[in-house]
Amino acid sequence: MPTSKTSPYDVIIVGAGVNGCASAWFLRRAGLKVALIDQEGIAAGGSGAAGAFIAPKISKSGPLKDLMDKAHARAMAFYPKYFPEATLERPLFHIAKTPEDADKLRVFRERTDLELSEPPQKLTKMLNVDVSDENAVYFDHSAVVNAQELCRAMSEGVDFYRRKAESPIHDGECWETAGVRGKYLLVAIGAYPKLLELPYIQMRGIWGHRIDITSDTKLSCILHHYVSVSPTSKEGVMAIGATHNVHYSPFGTDEPYDITAGRIELIEKAGRTLKLDNIKIIADYTGLRSGSNDYLPILGPLVDTDATLKQGNEGEAGLVYYPDVFMINGSGGYGFVLAPYLAEILADHLHDGKEIDSELLPERFFKRWLKKNQS
Ligand SMILES: Cc1cc2nc3c(=O)[nH]c(=O)nc-3n(C[C@H](O)[C@H](O)[C@H](O)COP(=O)(O)OP(=O)(O)OC[C@H]3O[C@@H](n4cnc5c(N)ncnc54)[C@H](O)[C@@H]3O)c2cc1C
Repeated sequence: MPTSKTSPYDVIIVGAGVNGCASAWFLRRAGLKVALIDQEGIAAGGSGAAGAFIAPKISKSGPLKDLMDKAHARAMAFYPKYFPEATLERPLFHIAKTPEDADKLRVFRERTDLELSEPPQKLTKMLNVDVSDENAVYFDHSAVVNAQELCRAMSEGVDFYRRKAESPIHDGECWETAGVRGKYLLVAIGAYPKLLELPYIQMRGIWGHRIDITSDTKLSCILHHYVSVSPTSKEGVMAIGATHNVHYSPFGTDEPYDITAGRIELIEKAGRTLKLDNIKIIADYTGLRSGSNDYLPILGPLVDTDATLKQGNEGEAGLVYYPDVFMINGSGGYGFVLAPYLAEILADHLHDGKEIDSELLPERFFKRWLKKNQS
């Protein structure tokens, strides 16, 4: 797909979170000329706040679990190979919080292909809780990535514009927004206010807070219990994260987020699992996860609501799509696990016309929205 004279870019990506940056990496690798636009900078949104653990989903079976298994395998092959400096591979020690969690662990243990092992005694002795095969799993195949470093590295070689994209316009051949012109428009804006009129897509923003600390306590694995505690790829720095706050959003309120309360919550929850000596908080990171209504990520072309409805016999005459507009979003609390898997599918679709699995397509929400609004 050559770049035309009037279109300096093949793809304009709006949003430089992990989804935008991973897409930029795969699209560039497929030979496309990519522009990346972000109003705040690279990994400034939810992605910058992430603990960025690369772990499988510990749950019973279902479409998200199946997708996460594939995405986890892809991420564990991708990050250490292409971005070893931003990736720290460490065992994961997951401890159940409730009997329901323990039941999920039991099913995970029975069905997983991952090789489970016993946690080292030195580690279990550090804990404030008793662990057994009934309430914990320990395995090697996991990692933590440095969110900012990784996103910066993935977007290297791509033209970056620090601007707010507004009201994109299509002139029959190309899209233009924020003074940047390109054939395809990829919307990768997480839980931020919408860029296009998409009444059928409602993202759920879940606010989170993570802290980086130093401590005299040294941990050799990624520990998931009430919160996650782990070493990071920065020498001597540990991360504690993250809170889940469904009530706070930076949009539509002037109320500042209470950073002290968030710190207290994180340290208290980490302390239920292990004693961290001489903690010093060295950085706070906050942002929104962006979840879809059915918890599955969103990947694919966007339906133009007005154009579809104007056709009459809604749905019967077929859906009308915005020309060459795609979305990647809805990764919830798993953006770093899902991004390489989703971005590769997108690049294969744009470059080679490979089909995107229907369960990921944004149009699933259009059909539901239409049904609800017709009845
Ligand atoms: C506290 C916390 C902990 C997490 N922990 C993990 C974890 O351990 N593992 C994991 O896999 N995932 C984790 N996640 C989830 C993961 O971070 C998200 O799924 C991921 O960040 C979503 O990335 P994104 O690119 O879709 O959105 P974002 O990272 O939110 O990026 C969207 C970008 O779009 C930009 N933007 C929006 N509108 C415009 C506009 N009009 N013009 C220009 N730019 C615009 C924003 O500035 C922003 O940079 C966590 C998230 C949080 C908040």
